[in-house]
Amino acid sequence: MKPVVHDFPHRAATALADEQLQGALRQARGGFVDKRRKALEALPEYPQIRAAAADIRAHSLAHLDFYLERFAERAEACGTRVHWARDGAEARQIITDICREADARKVIKGKTMVGEEIDINGALEEANLEVLETDLGEYIIQLAKETPSHIIAPAVHKNRAQISSLFARAHEKLGYKEAVTGIAEIVGRAREVLRQGFLQADVGITGANFLVAETGSMVLVTNEGNGDLTSSLPDTHIVLTSIEKVVPTLDDATTLLRVLARSATGQPITSYTSFYTGPRRADDADGPSEMHVVLLDNGRSRMLGGDYAEMLRCIRCGACLNHCPVYGSLGGHAYGWVYPGPMGAVLSPLLLGLPEAAHLPNACTLNGHCAEVCPVGIPLPDMSRKLRQEEQAEGLGSRRDRALLKVWSYVARHPRLYHGLAGCAAPLLRWLCRSGMIHFVPGLGTLLAARACPAPEGHSFHRLWQKKSAERTS
Ligand code: SF4
Repeated sequence: MKPVVHDFPHRAATALADEQLQGALRQARGGFVDKRRKALEALPEYPQIRAAAADIRAHSLAHLDFYLERFAERAEACGTRVHWARDGAEARQIITDICREADARKVIKGKTMVGEEIDINGALEEANLEVLETDLGEYIIQLAKETPSHIIAPAVHKNRAQISSLFARAHEKLGYKEAVTGIAEIVGRAREVLRQGFLQADVGITGANFLVAETGSMVLVTNEGNGDLTSSLPDTHIVLTSIEKVVPTLDDATTLLRVLARSATGQPITSYTSFYTGPRRADDADGPSEMHVVLLDNGRSRMLGGDYAEMLRCIRCGACLNHCPVYGSLGGHAYGWVYPGPMGAVLSPLLLGLPEAAHLPNACTLNGHCAEVCPVGIPLPDMSRKLRQEEQAEGLGSRRDRALLKVWSYVARHPRLYHGLAGCAAPLLRWLCRSGMIHFVPGLGTLLAARACPAPEGHSFHRLWQKKSAERTS
């Protein structure tokens, strides 16, 4: 997936004007949030588990070199071949070479955001391999030739009618004459079509949620079971993941699993939680005869020990996306790369470089909700704010925005001037809002197209507060 993050303002405006997308987002909104809330209400010890999860991630990152080496040692002892990739190009080459050595023609894939990050499908297709996505959401967007719009629900932006017509077009050539429209029928059709893919594939590629240093195991969670079929039916299994996923022990992995599923989908545990520890052994009934793990850096080691190292704690639960009003209004494609929402607004500039993605930290209202729901306590709003400061310091924003911020900074540092201007602005704003003239103020058109604009009281907060205090003391 090629990043196009510099285009954020244009993409955001397009997303806001897309009625079908807005309908799909409205439908999705609230579902994840309610499920997470109910799951956490049923777990009174959640604050303690969350603190433990944050500690595990912080400890793992502080000793990342040690735990990665231990993981690699144990994984190799179990027969897994470990590959290190400095960047996307190296990872693509490694995986393509493994497929060539396996004499593969067909590859099946489970959902992997690291795979999206390095555009592994593009590389495999260039090498004349047939790639089939097996996660239902990923399969839908593969048919639509789109990219994921959510890290755990890639096709959340699609409605049922769109999926039905995608299936009708794609499956006609497979001999299916009837369109499927109901949810159960759609899922049944996907199952039938994908089953052939599972049986014919030479190589299976999955991601991993965690790597366990203690045992050399890779942990994968799914709700569809496609991960297990992808990993065990083809003769070669490749796990594509990134270096920060390592944790010291199995106990640590299970602590993280307790917060991951609840934060992501509101489940106590995902339907399938699998631990892969090496290829098939002599007395195993099934499984791949070769197992590889590709450990991608791609800018992560640069973040270690720096101001943004805490971002590497992320366990990709998606809770920050689900609670973000900006993501909820735009969906994921506006962010222009694989990682959307609050985590993407911080991570993308760190992986791609701030000049490439300087708009993203500004796609945040700083309401703080993302940090509250993050199961590993990542201070996302603080990081967005810091990235904005760097954007300003490096002169990356538009000249107009930088000039406005300089004026604001001057006013905010001079209380008399601030109060004088606020005293004039409040009645003016009230008149503009009540008369509807606010929509004609240059520069506010796009902003107000997607927001309500209630008329303010007509006095500044400070004046109202003084008035109330005076009333209380008199
Ligand atoms: S930043 Fe936190 S809430 Fe967002 S995806 Fe990562 S772990 Fe989940």
